[in-house]
Amino acid sequence: MPQGGTVVNAENQFVADVIVKDGLVESVGKNLKAPKQSIVVDATGKYVMPGGIDPHTHLDAEMGWGSKAEIISTDDFYSGQAAALAGGTTMHIDFALPIKGDLAAGFERYKKVAKKSVMDYGFHMAVTTWNDKVASDMGKLTKEGINSFKFFLAYSGSLAVDDAQLIHGFRRSKELGALPIVHCENAAALLDAQQRTFDSGFTGPEGHYISRPAVFEDEGTARALRLAQYVNVPVYIVHVMSGGAVAEIAAAKTRGQRVVGEAVASGFGADEAKIWDPDFKVAAQYVMSPPIRNKEHQRQIKAGLAGGVLSIVATDHAPFNSTAKRAGLHDFRKIPNGVNGIEERLHVAWDELVNPGLITPSDFVRLMSTAVAQTYNVYPRKGLIAPGSDADIIVFDPEVSHTISASTHHSRMDTNIYEGREVKGQVVVTISQGKVVWENGKLNIQEGAGRFVKLPVRGPLFEGLDALDAASVASNFPYGTPGQPVVRDLGTTASKDEL
Ligand SMILES: [Zn+2]
Repeated sequence: MPQGGTVVNAENQFVADVIVKDGLVESVGKNLKAPKQSIVVDATGKYVMPGGIDPHTHLDAEMGWGSKAEIISTDDFYSGQAAALAGGTTMHIDFALPIKGDLAAGFERYKKVAKKSVMDYGFHMAVTTWNDKVASDMGKLTKEGINSFKFFLAYSGSLAVDDAQLIHGFRRSKELGALPIVHCENAAALLDAQQRTFDSGFTGPEGHYISRPAVFEDEGTARALRLAQYVNVPVYIVHVMSGGAVAEIAAAKTRGQRVVGEAVASGFGADEAKIWDPDFKVAAQYVMSPPIRNKEHQRQIKAGLAGGVLSIVATDHAPFNSTAKRAGLHDFRKIPNGVNGIEERLHVAWDELVNPGLITPSDFVRLMSTAVAQTYNVYPRKGLIAPGSDADIIVFDPEVSHTISASTHHSRMDTNIYEGREVKGQVVVTISQGKVVWENGKLNIQEGAGRFVKLPVRGPLFEGLDALDAASVASNFPYGTPGQPVVRDLGTTASKDEL
């Protein structure tokens, strides 16, 4: 297996050979003798890193956008994962969506469509309404291997929850030891701005950009963080796209909250100006929410990643090809939201963050893999190259450049938001479950080889939360713990009315 390369983990790097056996890393060290008949990959002069883990994807997703028409994302679990492996990502966590608010039914659907998987995957579940069945299904799903629940502040009328529902969801997540995830944009302000934008004549993709200013994201982020503080639950903020949201997360961390901030590759690596392209096909592919913002926001996101405010790089890979995007040809509100990225994430992040010296290769491994494994409680099985860990490994050549293009990528998309971009540094070999699945520009994958990885609740973010809880309850409820009210001694003169 990989020999003579520089093994890079989040905490250290060293030249070593890696021996793989039965899908696991057996040993890591100098001058190891490869067992007979084992495949040797020469990694001299290259980096040997844990495979990437993308915690934010929407494969085979049925998503409606305001209209009743359901549109299914262009990549299914086969094509999306093929693309992932060609780009060095060996596991992803996909967002299972409920069916008409029914979590259990949604999960059943996703289990079925994921059967054609070629690599390891897990699931989050979205919570889009609140009632007793939702609360009880959340409990059942945690026993089936889901340890995170997603709440949308945006998408009125379909996915959005209001503040009261969010608080219920936070409290139930906390009770279960599951991590709440929030899409932060103000739903009411968005509806207002979308209408005004459309009415003023901006009906094309640029209207999407104009109608979603950073202030909506800043407000949503601040609100989600404050409500998480109120409930005292760890919280995960997806796709941070504004400098203001980075600042809100920094402030929450400073006041002692447990927050995980996620950047997406498009948020700091894609050209936001393309959404103004007069060619609808070109512009529409950049429509995602929150929108890809200008270079100053992108600079702040990169600074957030380099400085530790943001801890993970994902993609929000929700691909809709140009035919699907045409649903919004005359009204930007009907353009299916989402961009590609599952294949490009490592390459774009390396080029944007490591090549200019903002972060080290170890930081890169942490952002792309280790922190994801830790956050979703599957470390050190994933996110580390060490004896006993899964043999999900990539060999990365920092000297090789290549040009990203829809004509050569492995997704089913007919466009690519990084079209024509040259990136330096390339994944030359991908090993998944101990097998070489990507080498010499060729995939060697098998439908059905992917495994559903159960993610256990009460991960590291929940450790010691009780102590923090006591302090929080004391400050929030000076008159006692909820359910155990302190009865004031009113003496003998108290009347019933006073009580
Ligand atoms: Zn998403």
